[in-house]
Amino acid sequence: RRAAAAEPAASPMMAQYIEIKAANPGLLLFYRMGDFYELFFEDAEVASRALGIVLTKRGKHGGADIPMCGVPVERADDYLQRLIALGHRVAVCEQTEDPAEARKRGSKSVVRREVVRLVTPGTITEERLLDPARANLLLALARRRASESGWTYGLAAVDISTGRFTLSEIDGQGLPAEIARLEPREIVMAEAIHADPDLARLWRDTSAAVTPLGRGEADPASAERALKEQFGVATLDGFGAFSRTEIAAAGTVLHYIARTQLGARVPLSPPARQGAGGSLLIDAATRTNLELTRTLSGERAGSLLAAIDRTVGAAGARLLAERLAGPSTDLALIRRRHDAVAFLVAEGALRAELRADLARAPDMARALSRIGVGRAGPRDLAALRDGLDAARSIATRLAGAGALPGEIGKAARLLATVGDGLVETLAAALADELPLVRRDGNFVREGYRAELDEARALQSDSRRFVAGLQTRYAAETGCRSLRIKHNNLLGFYIEVPQAVGETLLKDPWRETFVHRQTMVDAMRFTSVELGELESRIANAAGRALALELEIFEALAAAVMDQAAAINAAATALAALDVAASHAELAVELDWTRPVLDESLTFRVEGARHPVVEAALRQAGEPFIANSCDLSGSENEARSGREAGQILIVTGPNMGGKSTFLRQNALIAVLAQMGAFVPARSAHLGLVDRLFSRVGAADDLARGHSTFMVEMVETAAILNQATRRSLVVLDEIGRGTATFDGLSIAWACLEHLHEVTGCRALFATHFHELTGLARRLERLSNATLKVTEWKGDVVFLHEVVPGAADRSYGLQVARLAGLPASVIARAKVILADLEKGDGGRGRRAPVAELPLFAALPPAPEPPPAPKPDALRDLLGGLDPDGLTPREALDALYRLKAAR
Ligand code: ADP
Repeated sequence: RRAAAAEPAASPMMAQYIEIKAANPGLLLFYRMGDFYELFFEDAEVASRALGIVLTKRGKHGGADIPMCGVPVERADDYLQRLIALGHRVAVCEQTEDPAEARKRGSKSVVRREVVRLVTPGTITEERLLDPARANLLLALARRRASESGWTYGLAAVDISTGRFTLSEIDGQGLPAEIARLEPREIVMAEAIHADPDLARLWRDTSAAVTPLGRGEADPASAERALKEQFGVATLDGFGAFSRTEIAAAGTVLHYIARTQLGARVPLSPPARQGAGGSLLIDAATRTNLELTRTLSGERAGSLLAAIDRTVGAAGARLLAERLAGPSTDLALIRRRHDAVAFLVAEGALRAELRADLARAPDMARALSRIGVGRAGPRDLAALRDGLDAARSIATRLAGAGALPGEIGKAARLLATVGDGLVETLAAALADELPLVRRDGNFVREGYRAELDEARALQSDSRRFVAGLQTRYAAETGCRSLRIKHNNLLGFYIEVPQAVGETLLKDPWRETFVHRQTMVDAMRFTSVELGELESRIANAAGRALALELEIFEALAAAVMDQAAAINAAATALAALDVAASHAELAVELDWTRPVLDESLTFRVEGARHPVVEAALRQAGEPFIANSCDLSGSENEARSGREAGQILIVTGPNMGGKSTFLRQNALIAVLAQMGAFVPARSAHLGLVDRLFSRVGAADDLARGHSTFMVEMVETAAILNQATRRSLVVLDEIGRGTATFDGLSIAWACLEHLHEVTGCRALFATHFHELTGLARRLERLSNATLKVTEWKGDVVFLHEVVPGAADRSYGLQVARLAGLPASVIARAKVILADLEKGDGGRGRRAPVAELPLFAALPPAPEPPPAPKPDALRDLLGGLDPDGLTPREALDALYRLKAAR
């Protein structure tokens, strides 16, 4: 492109294009040409591919065809939406002068054009570009060295579409999980951070558009200045204590917003501090694995979010998604939320009324933000009118509802007085039918402003006035064929036949009639009166529109005067919507309020998996509820050495292991987000971090071997889990040859038991592990019950204590449709393997066939150490005759005898 710019033959238009393009690197340039936005060169190729529109050419540049594609201006929003969804960023370049002006400057002159706005995934406000049920976060990062090897990150998250602004700080290790929780649409940061090789994987894995900025934008002093300016304050103390890194991130985000909105000042709420310790940490792999907000294939349908969402408004849906993404660890807060749900469960009639009101409340937060950036239409004002009206009706209902729990009481107070006066003004000012854009006019109600009514009357009366004048002139001149007509050149004019015209040129008529044009058989005149009438008519339309725009501005200003209160009310409505949604769900599906405390308890009875249960319900099949207890013992709790239990779950494939594991993790998430849970009863000690992994998920697309991925993720768990964490591991160690996998799984379990002491669920095909229960005191076994019926295995999906007695691999294989001959042959091999085993639990080290593995005998309990135990033990060992498990056991015995 640079070479092209130097090209002497560049047409003036191309020269202008190239200059603007160069000033906006990394953006697709929408270059306005009449009724189209056109894209050239590489942009055209990218856009035509992304949008599936025709790639053509326009002229030549440097001897080569210029690739070009175009989108019609009136459909530009659609195309923008698709490009944004794909993570592109767009610079919109408009003609900023009348083409006539350019022509005056000379024939070679091009119309002046300027980039008026950058459209990026994180900075959009248009209703049509936004997902109503999702926050649209722009995240800025800044950082400082915390230690030799580590960084501390400042995060500034802004949702321009609602004005929300939060700041937080987190160490490098926690950064990926925090980004996974926030799910930003766009992340901006200084080039130095972007280029850090340690973060490369993070950028690759995130679905956000990642935008590196230049340097110098994160300098704390200018960041502080930008913040003060944004909020018009002399000091930031009033907002709370922010670290320098947080301030730097805030500066970066404000700078980027200013750059993309090109001048428009975006109204933001004052920054709120998001305590990093305040939410349950869930890393990206766990989120994916538990399908919290979307399924493994990326859809919302089938996720936990979709299964529990009973909200009726967009703001409520967004808040629900946000709470699900970041459940709390603040016991008092969670209990307040549960109180609110419990109240609405009990008050069924009130709940129904509230939900009806909430359903008719439009998305006030987003309308408000569009009004703030000057991109609003009349319907945004109407959204506030209707939203505030609904808020008022809800406040009235709550006022009559007696004693309210904290959360709801707070909402009631916020809603009680919001928008007083404003609703009436908006209702009086806005017409019933509203156009999309204000330039279309006709959105102000008749009778609201006398001047506007007059201007409109003049417009519609214009025909009558003209007709009246024509009648009068005809009578005065005695010319019955006199007509008043209109064309673009003359405007209004009086036309008479040639003969009459001649007389009008003379006294006394020439006092009144001014000659304009002589035609073949007619003459045209104008008059002072007609001229006045004409300009009154022409002005009336312009005046009506100007008045409407003026009224719009006044209404917008009145709204912005109350922006903070309206925002608070919108948030309160969203919180009510979420509480009512949880209550609705609890009643509908018989969910229950969990008991939460600071202990290491985890006791759920009669629990279900909300998504699997819903799917089975559709198929008319019952879900078998199961209980689970991972609680630390009371004794230990008293001695202050409390640690959680580990449950090893074995059982055949398709038995329900994964479902059981996940349902327990989901219950912890639901409880801590403030919802009721799908169980008969649940008592949970707060969980600080949740880990969930499934083994053997191929990740070749990302260039990692399955095993490597598994080990990296397992390492993350062992390094990060604390005593308060909940760890759910599904078939870890399966990604490698049996013995490697077994020993790794074994060692991990011991680590979790001995070092971490957390509550954990561990599903495995390695039956050898079930023997650990004898040695490790806080470890026990459970299995999924099956029975056989006419040689077929029947899954009962019931979790019972103990280890699986066989693996039913062959039966499952048959159910799966493996040919009978293969099954028959497998039976023979299995029998052989079991025989060759010699009854010592050894199995042939044939790759990974845990499905077909025979059950080895349980490991020996460690013998009591004798005086010369070591020598005796050593003497009794036959290294060649040991399985690895036996070897490991022998090692333990040796260690114990020391
Ligand atoms: P595994 O992990 O043991 O292979 P899954 O947890 O994937 O088994 O469950 C297999 C299928 O069994 C599920 O898709 C579901 O249809 C059914 N299932 C699992 N748990 C239950 C349950 N508790 N009640 C009824 N059906 C269940």
